[in-house]
Amino acid sequence: MNITENQQTLLRMLPGVDHILEMVKADTFFDNVPKSVLVRSIRSVVENLRIIILDNQQNITEPELSNSEILNKIKESVRKTMTPNLIRIINATGVVVHTNLGRSLLADDAIENLLTIAGRYSNLEFDLSKGARGSRYSIVEDILCEISGAESAMVVNNNAGAVFLSLETIAKGKKVIVSRGELVEIGGSFRIPDVMAKSGGILKEVGTTNRTHLKDYENAIEHDTALLLKVHTSNYSIVGFTADVSLESLVDLGAKYKIPVMEDLGSGTFVDFSKYGLLKEPTVQESVKAGADIVTFSGDKLLGGPQAGIIVGKNNIIEKIKKNPINRALRIDKLTLAALESTLRHYRNIEKEMDAIPTLRLMTLPFDHIESNAKTLFEMLENIGDPRLSVSLIDIFSRPGGGSLPLLKIPSKGVGVKVQGISANAVEKQMRNNECPIIGRIEEDLFIMDLRTILDDELQLIENAFKHMLKKAGS
Ligand SMILES: *Cc1c(COP(=O)(O)O)cnc(C)c1O
Repeated sequence: MNITENQQTLLRMLPGVDHILEMVKADTFFDNVPKSVLVRSIRSVVENLRIIILDNQQNITEPELSNSEILNKIKESVRKTMTPNLIRIINATGVVVHTNLGRSLLADDAIENLLTIAGRYSNLEFDLSKGARGSRYSIVEDILCEISGAESAMVVNNNAGAVFLSLETIAKGKKVIVSRGELVEIGGSFRIPDVMAKSGGILKEVGTTNRTHLKDYENAIEHDTALLLKVHTSNYSIVGFTADVSLESLVDLGAKYKIPVMEDLGSGTFVDFSKYGLLKEPTVQESVKAGADIVTFSGDKLLGGPQAGIIVGKNNIIEKIKKNPINRALRIDKLTLAALESTLRHYRNIEKEMDAIPTLRLMTLPFDHIESNAKTLFEMLENIGDPRLSVSLIDIFSRPGGGSLPLLKIPSKGVGVKVQGISANAVEKQMRNNECPIIGRIEEDLFIMDLRTILDDELQLIENAFKHMLKKAGS
């Protein structure tokens, strides 16, 4: 590589790490910055400048290498390193249970309980009535049985863990019959055939993609069949010429051959959404009532609690699952248990307490409420009074997300923004990089924010973000 004289001059201007370390001593900004962070920031800034100098495509000038400019760059880098990586964001996507954006928000009392348990000792594994060692699973077992109607219950880290643990316990080295139409893949690499393989269960596919009949299951039963598995096709729907076998029929078939039946509900809800003008999603109670031996579902999808995998079902199988040593690796932690217990308690009286669980509240938010917030945000943005900003109110659809109710589109109201001189893509990027990131969507060259998932107290933050963006863009 040929280095020009100019490049050589610039390279020589770059200060050494020790020199900069001396320099920062005079600046109080760095007083409480850990040495490791400081050294890393200095090295990365100097290294970046070196790369820019050597890159013939990029022009850099001497003033940009002044001590004060370099110090500013180091401060910026230190600031970035010192802010947490996991931060709150504003979900303006309208997807209520957004897997990339933290899925469910917890109920207020779940958060309160979690805070108490986090900062204090607790009876996590201590039976207060006996004064002896207890089990952490007993904390939510009774309430899960009460709500679902099941004999026994058990909780683990997440539903993928619940499915894996159940398969490993029941079907290791044996065959599991599943319909071809139910070999689900959900995001983040969870695929039924893969989980099955890892659990040691041997997958026996039956039927076709669109149609599976009871006789397909029956014909596939062999001496080493350990389980009939039904998987809720939570994130897609097969429509048209279709047939699947009801859980009730599978339970009858299982009883005939003495083979247990498991249903992975995925999202899992205790609420019949069709009562609220939404589409019907199978409920946990219905699966239990139909006689499934094991039902698995998530804690943080439509249930609206913390990340957890819930297993309810017949006593004999749940007891085996509880004794599986792998359990320990999938163990639910105390903070999750604290939040889960508080969330579950609302389900005793859920018709009156829908609004306490944010996921349920947002799913069933009255249109008037959304519209009123959309109008407020519209006015706030209009009142910025910047001629480059054109704001509109639009009719859009929100989605439940979380791999549930894939066909459901819930009418909602959005605010669309166009900024003269800034493309919709650039607006989206700036909002995404805002101090409190705002995640929206782009449709037809418009940046759109769905008011269903924007919380009431977040409107001001959005106004501030747009003011900041316009100011940055100059006038
Ligand atoms: C979401 C889902 C899972 C995995 O649940 P996690 O709680 O994300 O681990 C498993 N099965 C189905 C059908 C799902 O929809």
